[in-house]
This record gives sequence, C-alpha cells and structure tokens, in this order.
Amino acid sequence: MTTNAKKEAFDSHGVAGQTHTVTLIPGDGTGPELTEATRRVLEATGVKFNWQVHHAGVDVMEKFGTPLPTPTLDSVRKTKIALKGPITTPVGTGFRSVNVALRKELELFACLRPCKSYPGVRSRYNNVDMVIVRENTEDLYAGIEFEKGKPETATLISEIMKLQPGSKIRSDSGISIKPLSVFGSDRIVSWAFDYAKAEGRKKVTAVHKANIMKYTDGLYLETARNVAKRYPEIQFEDRIVDNACMQLVARPDEWDVAVLPNLYGDILSDLCAGLVGGLGVAPGANVGDGIAVFEATHGSAPKYKGLNKVNPTAMILSGRLMLKYIGEAKAAKRLEDAVAAVIKEGKSVTYDMKQDRDDPTAVGTAEMADAIIKKLEASK
Ligand code: NAD
Repeated sequence: MTTNAKKEAFDSHGVAGQTHTVTLIPGDGTGPELTEATRRVLEATGVKFNWQVHHAGVDVMEKFGTPLPTPTLDSVRKTKIALKGPITTPVGTGFRSVNVALRKELELFACLRPCKSYPGVRSRYNNVDMVIVRENTEDLYAGIEFEKGKPETATLISEIMKLQPGSKIRSDSGISIKPLSVFGSDRIVSWAFDYAKAEGRKKVTAVHKANIMKYTDGLYLETARNVAKRYPEIQFEDRIVDNACMQLVARPDEWDVAVLPNLYGDILSDLCAGLVGGLGVAPGANVGDGIAVFEATHGSAPKYKGLNKVNPTAMILSGRLMLKYIGEAKAAKRLEDAVAAVIKEGKSVTYDMKQDRDDPTAVGTAEMADAIIKKLEASK
C-alpha cells in the first residue's frame, strides 16, 4: 500500500536565483536576536528573499490574545516556507505549545534533524554525519490519554479485559494510546527514502520495538520493509530501539538516515545532538506536503534574552537546510563551509564553543554571524 503523499524531492521547492518569499517568525526569548543573525547571514549568501515578518510567542499574547495569531499561520500557509525562532511555551496559561500547534495545524509530519560533527566543536566524536527523521503526528504523542480513576478509564479497562481476557490492567492505571497507521508509517518512511535520495545518502535504518509491540511497531516495520522495496538503490536495515541507542553511542559513524516513530525519534534526536556537541549546533526542520518550517532544535533560552550571547549556529544551519529546500544548493554549501571555517578557527565563537565557558574572548551572537558573513564574502 502507498500513500497519496506528493513525491517531491526535498530540494525541489524553489528555483535557484529567483526571489524566495519566506515567512520569518522571530519568536521570543533569544529568538529575535538569533533570527536576525540568521537573516543577515542568509542574505550574505547572495540569495534573494522577500521576508514576510509575522509574530508568535509570549511577547504577542497580550496584543493578539493568543501566542499563535491567525495572520502568522495564514502567512505560512501562503508562503509554504517559514524560518522560525524558538518560542517559549507559557506555563499555566492554558495555551498549548505554539510549536506543537504549528506542526498540527500545518500537518508537518516529518521532523528532520541532521547531526554532523564540525571540527572545533567540543564533542565526543569527530566523525558523525547522520540524519534523524522523526514522525511528528502519531504514536503516544496523539494525545489520547485516560486518567487514573475516571469512569471512562474504568470502562476502557473493563472493555480491554473483555477483548483480551488474558490481559491484566490494574484498576489504578492511567492509559495512553499509541496509534501507528500504515498511512503514517508509509508516509514518513517514504519521506526518509526520498530525502536520502535527494541528499545522495546510502542507507536508511528503521528503528522500532516490533518484537514487543507487534501491532504498532510491527506494522511500522512491515510497512518500512515494503517501502524499502520501492528504493532498491538505497540500502535498508532495521534496529530495535534499545540496541539502536547502544550502537549510536558506540559507533555513530555507521549511521546514515534513521527513520523513527514519534517517541523514539524525540529521544534519539536529542541523543544524537549530544553526540555532535549539543543544542547550540543542532538544526532542524518540520516538513509536510509542500510546506516546511525551519527552526533550531533548542528552545528560547529565556535567561539570555537580549544579551547577544547565545550561539546562532543551530539557527543558521537550519537556514542552510532551508536554502537546500528552496533549490539553492550552492549557497547552502558555501554557507556550511563558512560556518565550519569559523567554528574550526575557534576565535569568533560564542561562549559555549570555547574550551572554558568563561573565556573573555568569546563573542556575541551578532559578532559570530559577522564572522560567518566575512567568510561568505571572501568565498564569492
Ligand atoms: P532551551 O533549549 O531553551 O535551553 C536549554 C539549555 O541550553 C539552557 O541552558 C540554554 O541556555 C542552552 N541553550 C539553548 N539554546 C542555546 C544556544 N543557541 N546557544 C547556547 N546555549 C543554548 O530549553 P528549555 O530551557 O527547556 O526551554 C526554554 C523554553 O523554550 C521553554 O518554554 C520551552 O517550551 C521552549 N522550547 C521551544 C522550542 C521551539 O521553539 N521549537 C523547542 C524546545 C523548547
């Protein structure tokens, strides 16, 4: 079975040399300073942008009554491409996470997180170059939960015991439901293979726990195996999730593209960010059919708001992913080389990239962006 998902290669969403219309969401906390640094760097590549600036986050809640104003959502629906700064999830206000809302509203089903070692970054490995593709809409994140002690939970428990007489569920249990569909599994695994193809990558590994959860992870694995038959030029393998964690930590260089259901993807993408130097250097994108939002993996680091202190690398590398997505492969490569050169020199980098985090020679967000821009100008 195949989905009706459009088969568009990752790098086919624009034409090199044209002016690209992009929604720019500065976000809150350190988001505005990071997106401003990223916007300047992207423009220094020579690629032309028509930025549609729209706001979201805690700073606009008072004005709009919501952290995700309709004009912002409408703009992304229209431009189909957004560069987004991190956004704080307000605690105890009743507002749900803007980040989760965006993924749901725009059906951004694939979360892409490249994990690559750059010389000069303090990390355990210097030879990692892999990509995590996480399913974003199904699994235990579906939000279908039954609270301990509620009448509906008791009803559900008794129905389950009737349907599966051997099962034992204590009456004081809470229950979370894990739906995984053939449609959702086919869509994410196909996306991972298409991405691997567009990027010239050689291998896709499906991660699962099919030995225990036969009707969810088992379905996912069977679907993944069927999808793999459509891509004979790309190697396919599968790993049980616990074994995958051990192998990633022991031999990360053997991984290429890993495709995972939502929960395992959430956990393993942070593990992999840890392998290559942490949140300051971990870029990301959330992608749907013909629509994508590019953002760093990290959050809004609110304690550093307005201090011109945090590392712009993750956000800038998210911008590099966006360049690839809009067909500007050459600019993307120049940008990556410029970032890598600045990191390797280790001079104009933020505090978190210095050997000693209190090193007084650390530069600010804007100055690190300036150093990258200088490298870009030198490579013209
Ligand atoms: P965080 O990523 O903001 O911060 C975690 C740690 O990493 C902090 O010590 C922080 O100072 C550091 N850090 C983060 N980004 C950095 C950078 N670019 N350079 C250097 N250091 C950096 O995570 P948190 O504190 O758990 O979350 C803060 C807020 O961000 C929360 O409201 C959370 O919900 C939100 N959040 C948003 C997103 C998103 O917008 N996609 C993602 C994660 C968290």
